Amino acid sequence: MKVTDHIKQSNGNTQFSFEILPPLKGQHIQSIFDNIDPLMEFKPPFIDVTYHREEYVFKEQENGLLKKQVVKKRPGTVGICAAIQNKYKVDAIPHILCGGFTKEDTENFLIDLDFLGIQNVMALRGDAVKNETYFRAEKEGHHYANELVNQINALNEGVYLDEELLNSSKTDFCVGVAAYPEKHMEAPSLESDIHFLKKKIKNGAEYVVTQMFFDNQKYFDFVDKCRSEGITIPIIPGLKPIATKKQLNLLPHRFHVDLPEALISEIIKCKDNSEVKQVGIEWCIQQSKELQKAGIPVLHYYSMGKSDNIQTIASQIF
Ligand code: FAD
Repeated sequence: MKVTDHIKQSNGNTQFSFEILPPLKGQHIQSIFDNIDPLMEFKPPFIDVTYHREEYVFKEQENGLLKKQVVKKRPGTVGICAAIQNKYKVDAIPHILCGGFTKEDTENFLIDLDFLGIQNVMALRGDAVKNETYFRAEKEGHHYANELVNQINALNEGVYLDEELLNSSKTDFCVGVAAYPEKHMEAPSLESDIHFLKKKIKNGAEYVVTQMFFDNQKYFDFVDKCRSEGITIPIIPGLKPIATKKQLNLLPHRFHVDLPEALISEIIKCKDNSEVKQVGIEWCIQQSKELQKAGIPVLHYYSMGKSDNIQTIASQIF
């Protein structure tokens, strides 16, 4: 079922969803099931599976020269989605990127998803590959997520890249896109970011999931701004409980988000990471309760491969 239909059918009740990462290459899929199993009691209508593009690594050879190699450390997004739908009978949402994909790769990826009965996709640009500063599209690829959404929408209308394919079967994907309450790191302003978000929606996106935030006011202000700009589709908040002291620096650096002073000082006081984890859980419970009270249809949690803290939070909310 489509995310938008899940929201329509929820009768105003806040639903629980979460995002998982494929395991590192070489690990068994059981590690994913072990993360999902404890969260199934909260009846997620859908589970997102991230996509991880290739990385370049430089390996030293016998002659001392470095050889550039392309590696994908977390392959398996589509296979995991199929396994989730099969095992749990829950909609799995694969993330799909512009980065590393030609338009042809994208079309073939979407055909696989369609054949597997996957009805939702999260369309993203992706970041620059490690060791590069700026995002670079493939020669025959998309530069921005709105172009990717356009291609998915074309397939929904039965328009394939090969224009000679007549009477082709139409896909029926519900497309989600990303948004940033604290602005995307490359955007010159929040206004310009919202301008391009509108373009993704005009091209066919039907719902939005936000970057993590730790101050609900930022989310509420962002939603107000979007609504005043005429955006009417659901804006699902993304939440992440802080779990380690290191994340105090890592999260602002990696995701370009601010942490509230009250949260920072609570974490600084912690003696070890088990105390930090507890602070993170309590903070996220407060955030979740406030969002639930505001009637937000879905709360989406970034599990980042760990489910125990999400389970504790969900048990207080759902
Ligand atoms: P876009 O919407 O293309 O925007 C990128 C930047 O370009 C923004 O600053 C925007 O304002 C600007 N822009 C957009 N269109 C134009 C235009 N036409 N002209 C000029 N500027 C423009 N990354 C992964 O690698 N794998 C994942 O699975 C993944 N999942 C994610 C899930 C969520 C919910 C979120 C919030 C992010 C996720 N990301 C993931 C990270 C994401 O790929 C990065 O944040 C990336 O830098 C931007 O992706 P986007 O789809 O928002 O890009």
